[in-house]
Amino acid sequence: HRVAREISVALADIQSRRAAEFHAAAVAESRLKDMFLGIASHELRTPLTCLKLNVQLVHRELQALEPRLAERLERLTRSIDRMTRLVNEMLSVSAIAAGKLALRETHCDLRAICRSAGAEQSQVARRPLSLHLPEEPVHVLADEDRTAEVITNLLANAYKYSAAEEPVDLSLEQSGAEAIVTVKDRGPGIPRDSLPHVFDRFYRVPGVSVRTGSYVGLGLGLYLSKAIVEQHHGRIWVESEVGRGSAFSFSMPLAA
Ligand code: ADP
Repeated sequence: HRVAREISVALADIQSRRAAEFHAAAVAESRLKDMFLGIASHELRTPLTCLKLNVQLVHRELQALEPRLAERLERLTRSIDRMTRLVNEMLSVSAIAAGKLALRETHCDLRAICRSAGAEQSQVARRPLSLHLPEEPVHVLADEDRTAEVITNLLANAYKYSAAEEPVDLSLEQSGAEAIVTVKDRGPGIPRDSLPHVFDRFYRVPGVSVRTGSYVGLGLGLYLSKAIVEQHHGRIWVESEVGRGSAFSFSMPLAA
């Protein structure tokens, strides 16, 4: 009896040691991935900036001489912009992993951030946006660039996962002591069992991302948005139905 008990204690000990080893290996691997993400994105930024500058220069020269070729260069510029966005996403994610996502908070009117991010994304997507803003200013204490990044991510997703003729809405409202921003699309929606995972790092809904394969994505945008919103003491959530569309919202406390 005693021997059996000793064996079972020894087995439990081995099992828990194994679990600890597994855990340590997983932590080490994820640290290595974060380090790689940080280094790779940092190293990619300089050549990308150089590429963009030179393409813009050639584009300017070529516009008068060869308009057809100039158009090709415009497409190249858009690809560079997309790559730059991915690289910036990678950099921000490695900053989160290192606990170094610093916010530069100022008092700002959330309407202005919605307006400019909305105009920019609608122009990039070459699709209309219906914008619903309150008459009165919506004051928050926030990092303007990071907040714009969240709205940009949500809008970019709404445009890329829905068809060209489907409308996209951006609305802002006050509710109690909070400001709430919502981006709504009439795209494919997200399956119920994927909903709890869309804010996870590297997660992409299986079928959807494959169908829209021409759009590069790392599954980092929503993870990053969540981290930024939470650092502002806000919440982020999604309501979605397959075949009907998705509505991503986030809240931020109103400034006193
Ligand atoms: P990605 O770079 O893949 O777009 P995100 O973190 O922004 O990464 O989004 C994670 C996944 O959530 C996407 O790959 C997509 O499958 C799904 N998703 C995000 N936004 C939408 C949307 N508006 N409509 C449908 N699916 C979406």
